[in-house]
Amino acid sequence: MIKMDSNLNGIEIVLLDLDGTIHLGGVPIPGAIDFIQRCKEKNVKTIFLSNNSSKSVKEYVLSLNSMGLEVVSENILLSTHDCIRWLKNKNWMKVYCLGTIGMKEMLTDSGIECLEEGVDCVVLGYDTELTYAKLTKAISLLHQNVPLVATHPDVVCPSPMGGLPDVGSMLKMIELSTGIQPTIITGKPRPEMILSRLEEEGISPSKVAMIGDRLYTDMEMAKAAGVVSVLVLSGEATQQDVENNSWSPNVIVNSVDDLLRYSA
Ligand SMILES: [Mg+2]
Repeated sequence: MIKMDSNLNGIEIVLLDLDGTIHLGGVPIPGAIDFIQRCKEKNVKTIFLSNNSSKSVKEYVLSLNSMGLEVVSENILLSTHDCIRWLKNKNWMKVYCLGTIGMKEMLTDSGIECLEEGVDCVVLGYDTELTYAKLTKAISLLHQNVPLVATHPDVVCPSPMGGLPDVGSMLKMIELSTGIQPTIITGKPRPEMILSRLEEEGISPSKVAMIGDRLYTDMEMAKAAGVVSVLVLSGEATQQDVENNSWSPNVIVNSVDDLLRYSA
């Protein structure tokens, strides 16, 4: 049983979910900028996590900087990174990418070729530039028994207009038209997404906290990876959800504003 309070003593890296934790629809959560500053002062490294594979790391840096959050590209970890790592492990280096230009850039930069034919798999990301022609191409490859890989499982992407169809919804559509299920779905809550990064950082999971607003992704991943789980109630999960859940995160706070307040 991990003993921890909102001061997060002994934590050297915090993994931060973005939407609902650091910002809400592009507006910083009150106190989030000061929290990032406190992390810096206390030498706690901040790594920002998102399952949203529609944007590239470069685009994330721009959008976070424009919100007043100082972030460097090395400290952004996307489901796209987890997917790239999985593909490389499998040596699937030629793919048809059903994704945005930003996602394709990340694949190409990592040495994975984005092609139309002769591919090892179809990679599905959150394609906010989806066209029927791209979808037809992907479906035709799947009908030829090319395997399917998806960057993350989210069914909807939160927006001020309500939930918009994300990868999970597209997977349902693909399943209905082809009967095919993905070989793997990378991203949160897959613990490997953070464990491989922590291995690179050379840090033990016990010195790491995952801070997020969703029980079934952020908190499940934290638990599975053996890092400290910190739930913020500034996004999706409510106190009621915690009471209905079969287990409780190590720390529960209203928002990141309540964290790292006192010195040890
Ligand atoms: Mg979130």
